[in-house]
Amino acid sequence: MDYKSNDKSGGTGTKPVNKKNVPWGRAWIELDGAALRYNVSVLEALLPDTCELMPAVKAEAYGHGAVLISKELNQLGIYSFCVATVAEGVELRRNKIKGEILILGYTYPEDFYLLHQYQLIQTVMDYEYAQTLNDYGKKLKVHIAVDTGMHRIGERCENIDEILDMFEMENLIIEGMFTHLSADDVMEPRDIEFTRSQIRNFYKVVDKLEAEGYPRPRLHLQSSYGMLNYPEVAESYARVGIALYGVLSTQKDTENCKLPLKPVLSLKTRVTTVRTVYPGEAVGYGMQYQVEEEKRIASLAIGYADGLPRSLSNGAGEVLICGCRAPIIGRVCMDQTIVDVTQIPEVTAGDIAVLIGTSGEEEISAADVAEQAGTITNEILSRMGSRLERIWI
Ligand SMILES: *Cc1c(COP(=O)(O)O)cnc(C)c1O
Repeated sequence: MDYKSNDKSGGTGTKPVNKKNVPWGRAWIELDGAALRYNVSVLEALLPDTCELMPAVKAEAYGHGAVLISKELNQLGIYSFCVATVAEGVELRRNKIKGEILILGYTYPEDFYLLHQYQLIQTVMDYEYAQTLNDYGKKLKVHIAVDTGMHRIGERCENIDEILDMFEMENLIIEGMFTHLSADDVMEPRDIEFTRSQIRNFYKVVDKLEAEGYPRPRLHLQSSYGMLNYPEVAESYARVGIALYGVLSTQKDTENCKLPLKPVLSLKTRVTTVRTVYPGEAVGYGMQYQVEEEKRIASLAIGYADGLPRSLSNGAGEVLICGCRAPIIGRVCMDQTIVDVTQIPEVTAGDIAVLIGTSGEEEISAADVAEQAGTITNEILSRMGSRLERIWI
């Protein structure tokens, strides 16, 4: 490999490369800004004017990079976000992200000062937590989570007196109230019936509040699948995550989706060495790949520490190089992965390998990888490693 010392394009010297779009580096994420903008417009078109997108930018915006994505969304006029943790909210504020930031998860009382200092909105996990927040002694903005059947967080919807009581707590500035639909992704009778009961339970609380004369807080029930499958419950916000990034949780859902969403993320790495292996030899940890006939194999500069699932080992997964598919052989390592390139003789060190994205006519989607790894795209994307460079293309 003879990289020219000052050449940041990563060109190999032997092949033409599109210097503008090829970053220097071992493994990286390319973010398609046009795709993000397009997805925003497609999703906004689904919502009534009274409902705003509140993108879920938790877990580094599902691996895409929370600050990068949120800045772009601010540019697009989006000023509401949700994150999982107070630290994620603080990071956005330190990077000058404007608008409302709702923390969906638990914040430890020792960190309540951060809510105040950075003007973050805290979710009320249940009645006891409302009291803890109130006891902090300074005014805090909150959204009340109502448990309508998922039983993860939220005050139980039957406990209407406890919920009404929160509105009497002097230090809580209750700006919103929400619930989370836990079976909105499957349109089987049982799931539909359950989701409808969740929705009914939520509105019972809302109606009771109104009957008691309390001002109606901003409401939200939908996440990505809620937007798609239950458009009628659009209220003040839609907490959209996975769909914003241009995919759905599974391959099947992505294929069946009526919306023309475009994937925002591609995952790429480089071929670092190409070599020949001979019959009787074995490749990688644990001698898992036994060579039966002479093969050309390539090592890639990406591994499970970068978020490539180890379950793609031994042929379960593949990558794209020079527009062709190359199966993963042996075990995915922490920082490297080995592929069979016998069928792609033109491969040399320095070439780009695509783990998620397109190469020539071929494509590997995040949903393909999820299926191969036995999980959902949300997990694949959100586990993209911190070592990966993230760049806009
Ligand atoms: C993560 C999350 C979302 C976003 O979900 P998607 O299915 O990715 O759209 C919405 N609401 C809550 C409470 C969440 O935790």
